[in-house]
Amino acid sequence: MIGFSDYEQIKVKTIQGRYLPPEPVYDFLKSDMNSKALKVVGHSVEHREIYALRMGSGRNKVLLWSQMHGNESTTTKALLDLIQKCQKNKPDWLEDVELLLVPILNPDGARAYTRTNANDIDLNRDAQRLSQPESRVLKDLFDTFKPDYCMNLHDQRTIYGIGTPPRAATLSFLAPAADPGRGFPDSRRKAAGLIGLMAESSSSEIGIGRYDDTFNLDCVGDTFQAAGVPTLLVEAGHYPGDYEREITRFYVYKALCKALEGIVSGPRVLPPLSKYHEIPENTSPFVDVLVKNAQVLLPNLPSGNKLGLQFEEVLQEDAIYFKPKLIHKGALSGVWGHRVLDAEKREDLEQLNGLDFFPGL
Ligand SMILES: [Zn+2]
Repeated sequence: MIGFSDYEQIKVKTIQGRYLPPEPVYDFLKSDMNSKALKVVGHSVEHREIYALRMGSGRNKVLLWSQMHGNESTTTKALLDLIQKCQKNKPDWLEDVELLLVPILNPDGARAYTRTNANDIDLNRDAQRLSQPESRVLKDLFDTFKPDYCMNLHDQRTIYGIGTPPRAATLSFLAPAADPGRGFPDSRRKAAGLIGLMAESSSSEIGIGRYDDTFNLDCVGDTFQAAGVPTLLVEAGHYPGDYEREITRFYVYKALCKALEGIVSGPRVLPPLSKYHEIPENTSPFVDVLVKNAQVLLPNLPSGNKLGLQFEEVLQEDAIYFKPKLIHKGALSGVWGHRVLDAEKREDLEQLNGLDFFPGL
């Protein structure tokens, strides 16, 4: 068993928050202790370097990549913590794995804080066309490294939740389908088993969801799974109040450690497939802010109506500003707020003004 009590010690504290451009990450990677294993494996559309770091020389090869979507930085932070853990406080599983980590596959998107690359292409829909240099970098690594496992690391929006009343989905997982029939060949079964293990380790602490497994070969995970390599999609999501995703970061780190531990222990220790199917499917019931008694703000609304506000993430002076945007109004019976404010209460109205939200202007 791995303990997590050393997390505060190994956490890369110089890197925090949502905006994660390449420079600080590359500075960390280039620091002396890592440099031997670090390689430039390609360049982005705007000629930024894409780095991969190799760690360990064990028999289980694991390829992990993050920030394929440039504005999805939480899993990158967790990868840096994982690297630091391997450097400073070597986990038992390290000697049985060989990791190839790509912390930022889409450095142009990371700099601009966009999902897409500099050509406005979603790299996670380019797995067949391979039209973009970043897509080809990943495919080349897949072909040359020949991983036994792949981990495709992302962030998801705050809208996702599980159950009723819903709980925020702080982590979501998917073992992508390997074929249109969405069966469970051995490789997918291994991926699902590892997800069962990851989910089990944190499900008493956070909400954990499972994504829909519609098969789409344009997605990288489906393509790699279809090639017979167990592939896991990990999505970092919202933890109540944690918009910087520093708490979620820990849970991603923990999940990655659990998966690696599961990989070295072998398929026999993995939970049965039923554990994977028991993870509730994600729904999207949440807005960031739900405003009750919205008629106080918008007098033409019927009494008791609500407003649903979603934060837009806006890059301003190297930080992310959360700008509320009105996306729903009405009775909103199936809509839940991570934060609920009542427009009839003065202190709640002040909070709303503090968010820079002024309806009707
Ligand atoms: Zn993504």
